[in-house]
Amino acid sequence: MTEALGSEAEPHRGGPGRFRALTVRDLDDLARRAGLPADQRLALRAVAAVFPFRTNSYVVDELIDWSAVPADPIFRLTFPQPGMLCEPDLAEMVRLLRDQAPAAVVQRAAHEIRMRLNPHPSGQLDLNAPTHEGRRVAGVQRKYAETILVFPRPGQTCHAYCTYCFRWPQFVDEPDLRIATEDVATVTAYLRANPEVTDVLLTGGDPVVMSAAVLSRYVEPLLEIDTVQAVRIGTKALSFWPYRFVADRDADDLLRLFERVVTSGRHLAVMAHVTHPRELRPEVVRTAIRRIRDTGAVVRCQAPLIGGINDRAGVWVELWNELTRLGAVPYYQFVERDTGPQHYFAVPLARGYEIFRDAYARVSGLARTVRGPVMSAMPGKVCVDGIAEVNGERVFVLHLIQARDPGLVGRPFFAAFDPAATWLTDLKPAFGAAQFLPGLDV
Ligand SMILES: *Cc1c(COP(=O)(O)O)cnc(C)c1O
Ligand code: SF4
Repeated sequence: MTEALGSEAEPHRGGPGRFRALTVRDLDDLARRAGLPADQRLALRAVAAVFPFRTNSYVVDELIDWSAVPADPIFRLTFPQPGMLCEPDLAEMVRLLRDQAPAAVVQRAAHEIRMRLNPHPSGQLDLNAPTHEGRRVAGVQRKYAETILVFPRPGQTCHAYCTYCFRWPQFVDEPDLRIATEDVATVTAYLRANPEVTDVLLTGGDPVVMSAAVLSRYVEPLLEIDTVQAVRIGTKALSFWPYRFVADRDADDLLRLFERVVTSGRHLAVMAHVTHPRELRPEVVRTAIRRIRDTGAVVRCQAPLIGGINDRAGVWVELWNELTRLGAVPYYQFVERDTGPQHYFAVPLARGYEIFRDAYARVSGLARTVRGPVMSAMPGKVCVDGIAEVNGERVFVLHLIQARDPGLVGRPFFAAFDPAATWLTDLKPAFGAAQFLPGLDV
C-alpha cells in the first residue's frame, strides 16, 4: 500500500489546508494521545493488521472530539475498533503482534481472516463483470442496465478510510481482490458498443485523490460519447479533505473539469459520502460545497446507517437538514453491507427502518429525496418500505429500487418479520410463499 496519495497528485500546499496522512505507523501514538491503555492500543493495531487504516491531520485535528474518545462517532468512523474482529481472530492477531511474529506470518493470518469475511459480497466480481469483444473489461462493473462503475487505478485510495468500508479489500495487500483500470480506451469502446448505458460512475477508493490532470484522462473521453448523459463522481473528500476543492494546488483545475462536464450538456453528480452531521460543521466544507455547486454540478449525499456512529434518528435529521440548507440533495441511506466487519457495525433492518422513518418524518419535503434504508444486495437495491401486519402476520414490505432484472423494479414484496435480520439473505418470504417474487432469487 502506498503511503503518499496518488503519485501524480502531490496536490497539497501549505497553510491550514496542508495534508498529512497518518497510517498504521502513527496508530500507537494517536491511541496514546486518546489516553487508551496499552492492551487497547495493541487491540487497535491487531485490527489494523487485518483491515485498512488511514486517517489524516484534518480528520484528527478538526473532526474528532478527543474528549469523547472512544465513543466519538468520527473516531469510530476512522479508527479500528476491537469488536471489528470476532474474539478468536482478535486474540490470534494480538498474540502474533505481542510475540513480534515475522511480518509474513502476520500477513498470512490476516489473509486467512479476510478470506472468511466475504471480501466481495453480492457476487460483484463475477456477476457484475461486463465483457467487450469477448473479453472482460477490467476495472469496470455493470450491475444495472443504465450505469457502469469505473474504478480508476490511481483512485483506489481515500484521504482516510472508514472502518465500516464495504470496499475494504481495495485497500489491503490483496492484489487478487482489487478492481482497477488504466485502460480508458476500452471503457469508451464499451460505452460506444452499449449505448443504453447513460451513466458513468467513477468510484474507488476516491477518484478525487487523483490530480485534476489524471482525473481528466478518465472524464474528458466520456464527453465525446453522445449517449453518456451523466457523470457521477463518488467521493468522501468533502468530509475527509474538503481542501481538495478549496486550497489544493489544483483545486481550481478540478472545478474547471467539473465545469467542462456541465458545459458539455451533461449532468455531473458529486456523490458525496457523508456519515455524520459533524462532518459538515467546518467552514471549509461549506466553502467546498458552494464551489462545487458553482460549477453547475449537483452534490448528492449518501451514507450507510452504522451502529455506534449514526444510529439515531436525530443524527439523520440534522444531517439531511444541513445538507438541504447547503443545497446538497440527500440520495440514499444504505444498510451496512454483508462484508468485513458487518457483524460489528450492522443495525438490524427493523431498527434501521424505524430510525429512517423517524428521521424522514421530521424533515422538509426538500430533504425527502432520500431513499432508504437500502440494501445493495445481489439482485439489486432493496428498500425496506415498512413493517406491516397483513392477515395477522407481521411482515416487512420491500421493493427493488434498482434490479439486475429491470422487470423486478418497483414491485412490492413481503418478508416474514424478523427483528434480528440485518440483510436480505436473513429474510424469508412471508405468507409461506416459496419466493419473494417470480424471478427474484436472493
Ligand atoms: C447503486 C449502484 C448504482 C447506481 O444506482 P442508482 O440507483 O442509479 O443510483 C450503479 N451500479 C451499482 C453496482 C450500484 O450499486
Ligand atoms: S470513503 Fe468510501 S471507499 Fe473510502 S474508505 Fe470510506 S467507504 Fe471506503
